[in-house]
Amino acid sequence: MNKALILVVEDDAPVRNLITTTLKTHEYRYLTAPTGEAALMETASHNPEIILLDLGLPDMDGMDVIRQIRSWSNVPIIVISARSEDSDKIDALDAGADDYLTKPFSVEELLARLRVTLRRLALMQGGTLNTDSVFTNGKLKIDYAAGCAYMDQEELHLTPIEYKLLCLLSKNVGKVLTHNFITRQIWGSSWENDVASLRVFMATLRKKIEKYPSSPQYIQTHIGVGYRMMKVE
Ligand code: CA
Repeated sequence: MNKALILVVEDDAPVRNLITTTLKTHEYRYLTAPTGEAALMETASHNPEIILLDLGLPDMDGMDVIRQIRSWSNVPIIVISARSEDSDKIDALDAGADDYLTKPFSVEELLARLRVTLRRLALMQGGTLNTDSVFTNGKLKIDYAAGCAYMDQEELHLTPIEYKLLCLLSKNVGKVLTHNFITRQIWGSSWENDVASLRVFMATLRKKIEKYPSSPQYIQTHIGVGYRMMKVE
């Protein structure tokens, strides 16, 4: 089996070894980089499918690594960081990271994030993300051209904002979107910090699409950070 090539950017050798051992055990291919400079070089020369990026590197801030890579590549970046503050996660996601893991993390958690990212990647490469006019995920269906959404073949009665929210999340399925990003996309910059309103719209949207709104299947909450639409089988 030829699994995805993962670039592991981490200066701490024991953590790096833990990650690479996990990857090897699960038949992923991998490359390692102990510095930001090495990460940029490996990314440019080997074109990895996913980058696992530690933010605290000896030569550069991981945030600058994200920004530099994003200037020329859309490769998924999963941040692995000891910084557990919400603001750090938000900054990394807003700079273009796709997901984050906080140290210490479990091997299962790491593998789960890789699977989510690979599914998202497969959707992007299959061209079913962003370009198709019909999106399906589990029992959810969105007909972008007609401007209608369905759950279990029944049309959902969504307000314009709920529909916009649902479309935004669906077009980024598998990716954590920050409050800031969502409010900017939905309302423009003037609503930038109105997270409370976003929470209200998200709650009403969930009531319409989730069978059990208190344990949602489609839209996951990342407390203090944002929301993500999960890929539902
Ligand atoms: Ca480090």
